[in-house]
Amino acid sequence: MTIFSLQNRVAFVTGGNGGIGLGMAKGLAAAGAAVVIAGRNKQKAQSALAELRSVGAPAEFIELDAMEEASCHQAVQRTVERFGRLDILVNNAGTTVRKQPEELTAQEWHLVMDTNLTSAFLCSQAAYPHMVRAGGGKVINIGSMMSVFASSYATPYAASKGGIVQLAKSLAVAWAKDNIQVNAILPGWIDTDLTRKAREQVQGLNERVLARTPAQRWGMPDDFAGIAVFLAAPASNFITGAAIPVDGGYSVQT
Ligand code: NDP
Repeated sequence: MTIFSLQNRVAFVTGGNGGIGLGMAKGLAAAGAAVVIAGRNKQKAQSALAELRSVGAPAEFIELDAMEEASCHQAVQRTVERFGRLDILVNNAGTTVRKQPEELTAQEWHLVMDTNLTSAFLCSQAAYPHMVRAGGGKVINIGSMMSVFASSYATPYAASKGGIVQLAKSLAVAWAKDNIQVNAILPGWIDTDLTRKAREQVQGLNERVLARTPAQRWGMPDDFAGIAVFLAAPASNFITGAAIPVDGGYSVQT
């Protein structure tokens, strides 16, 4: 096995049926992992599965409502029933509600926090005993530039993305004894369904992103294949509790 091989590994990617999640799932599959993509939208999942299987990877879609505690536990359990083990968990499912903080309802706050942050905790908790049984594991949380910066229209989103980095660090410290490494990825601005909506809702966003990003382009989901493989593979066995920007230089530009 090379340091980047995921042969005989099983990965579970929340929101792996599209966007950044699918970009990471494709990387994991190409490196040899069996991949479960978990989400709600079955139609998106069908085309995602076709892409994953085209590289020869065993891939399945398992229904998940990341807002529901029971659903998180059941989806992880079904993954282990289907593939016999679980080595890699990618906590990627995410959403946002773009409003000024004074206009948000408590329900909207909980929607974003439950989807982005609580689900990551619950899926990690569900995955833990299986990773211990496998002799170790990898958890990858998807943060954001909003883990570090803020915006007037993204209060619960920024709170959840700050939290998901602290969750990664806490789990990293707690589970290092079990040979489980837990890290976070901080994407810059990436061209997905989520940001296509943002470009419609936030005036001038496209121009601001291009001006602020040294790479002079939006990121693409496929830009996340490499970092996913690295953080899931033996190559990163001494890296834990890190938060790694994948942002075309956005976070280092003044
Ligand atoms: P997408 O909207 O394409 O992907 C979000 C995914 O999350 C979907 O596949 C969706 O699946 C899933 N999801 C949302 N709610 C739930 C739920 N309740 N239960 C199960 N699955 C759910 O956007 P992105 O690919 O951009 O987002 C992926 C992650 O990357 C998110 O955490 C996002 O916050 C983060 N991110 C994105 C950035 C960007 O610029 N695009 C920047 C920084 C971070 P389904 O459709 O089946 O519900």
